[in-house]
Amino acid sequence: MKRSESVSVKIVIILSMVAALSFSACGQSRNANQSSLNMNTISKPENPYYSHTDTTKLNLSDAEWKKILPKELYEVSRHAATEQPFTGKYWNSDVRGTYYCAACGNLLFRSDAKFASTCGWPSFFEQANKNSTVYRRDTSLGMERTEVLCARCGGHLGHIFDDGPPPTGKRYCMNSIALDFVPDSK
Ligand code: FE
Repeated sequence: MKRSESVSVKIVIILSMVAALSFSACGQSRNANQSSLNMNTISKPENPYYSHTDTTKLNLSDAEWKKILPKELYEVSRHAATEQPFTGKYWNSDVRGTYYCAACGNLLFRSDAKFASTCGWPSFFEQANKNSTVYRRDTSLGMERTEVLCARCGGHLGHIFDDGPPPTGKRYCMNSIALDFVPDSK
């Protein structure tokens, strides 16, 4: 092989290696984007109605909910059970992010509206938007309270009280188990 041919072969080999490295880097960057996207959504294969984007109202029977929700969530969401205070995942969390309905994925609260409450349940002074929650009078347990329900699936979330901080003076007192939390991307 002549010297010029040998130099050409070397150049071709070097160019091939550079190209291979470039493709590999693109692949890694695409995977990194994919994983950061995945961090922002929750998938529940056992619950086909769960979505962070579909706002269609749900009107499922109790039997259908029982089939697709974990037992403890089913009891809170569909039968207004209350988790024990200071036992839930979010009552003392101050991580920035978004809270969704654990039964249907509906957007409920932003962490900006969460405040440190001494009641033992995650507490917010306002909902994420006007389509997040609806309200119902609740006279159970001999008390006069206002129940908070998910506006999309009608699931029980907790109660709302008038002893919250400014600017609203409201306290959405929620069950952790009725919430899914997605932290903000860094
Ligand atoms: Fe819901």
